[in-house]
Amino acid sequence: MDALDTLVELSSQMELEHAEDSDGRVAPQGRIETTETTQPSCFTPKEKRAAFAHPAQLPNGKNIVLLKTLLSSACERDCYYCPFRAGRDFRRATFKPNEFADLFSKMHQRGLVEGVFLSSGIAGGGVRTQDKLLDTAEILRKKKGFRGYLHLKLMPGTEKDQVYRAMQLADRLSVNLEAPNTERLAKLAPHKIFIEELMRPLRMIEEIRRNEPAYKFWNGKYPSAVTQFVAGGADESDLELLTTTHWLIKNIRLQRAYYSAFHPIHDTPLENKPAVNPMREHRLYQASFLLRDYDFDLEDLPFTSDENLPLHADPKLAWANLNLIHSPIEINTADKQQLIKIPGIGLKGAEIILNARRMNKVNSLSALKKLHILADKAAPFILLNGKKPAIQTTMSF
Ligand code: SF4
Repeated sequence: MDALDTLVELSSQMELEHAEDSDGRVAPQGRIETTETTQPSCFTPKEKRAAFAHPAQLPNGKNIVLLKTLLSSACERDCYYCPFRAGRDFRRATFKPNEFADLFSKMHQRGLVEGVFLSSGIAGGGVRTQDKLLDTAEILRKKKGFRGYLHLKLMPGTEKDQVYRAMQLADRLSVNLEAPNTERLAKLAPHKIFIEELMRPLRMIEEIRRNEPAYKFWNGKYPSAVTQFVAGGADESDLELLTTTHWLIKNIRLQRAYYSAFHPIHDTPLENKPAVNPMREHRLYQASFLLRDYDFDLEDLPFTSDENLPLHADPKLAWANLNLIHSPIEINTADKQQLIKIPGIGLKGAEIILNARRMNKVNSLSALKKLHILADKAAPFILLNGKKPAIQTTMSF
């Protein structure tokens, strides 16, 4: 098997890893626009077969083509949902650190990929596997001179000196929690230990960030930390997922959580479990951004009696219908925290309104529209100069 064949084998199931390439947007048909793979037209047919090149958006908003792959698909663990679990019958493949670094470097030089997301199945324990990932990253950075985007996965049980080394090499680090707590994880991955193996490395990132200056790390910055959950895989509720997400955001400055709606994989213990509606992913993303950026608390979110978010309702709109419809917010005097609670007004929109207000009062929906605000969405929840704006209704028969 040559290196490209190895990559074909290893990248075949990487759509399960959302990494940077999913923002949970929903297409009009209700399908989540996530990991459509597009490859540059200059790829050879063999390169095209390897579904490794993913359009991705970096934390700074820049779009790049990300190579998403494993270093090895051999794994000694037996997580119930995972295509790479031990004992599942399929052809495994493994890169040596040098081999992967050579291949990636060539592809990078040809302009086929711009960044890399590197994970691995576990062989010989998490610590040993982490060493191989770190060796690969070190070759890329130090021998190949790669200065582009590198997202490195931390294996279960990774030790503190390995986390430190990873922070010196990567732009982003992640540990997949998979489930929101110990009890739920047992239903998904019986041999992973939630606190000791998964939460601990995530906490170490923050501990190191608090104690060491940023210049010691890659590019003089602290790498961001993210995690991923298999949404619905352990019959957990949205409240459980968002409680853990909220805790991570507040306590370890988690950049974001990714939610991957469970879908069954053939020849795994969960193969007969029904797939989870992808809309659940979307609602979880919306709610997690409200917690992270919009000053919402868990109790503000519109959980139903089964502790899930309604699939049919945007959580911000649902909150506004309960809380703002009878006490609308005056656009001309509201502070930023109030403005961002209004449906149709995001973080940028609130800044634009605050700036525009310094010159003139905002007196009409058309003035709001000129500021690129979704004025019709905001209209039921605002006052303009003390008056409720006239809301245009469309007749439907
Ligand atoms: S440890 Fe990772 S690769 Fe191995 S079975 Fe579990 S999820 Fe899959």
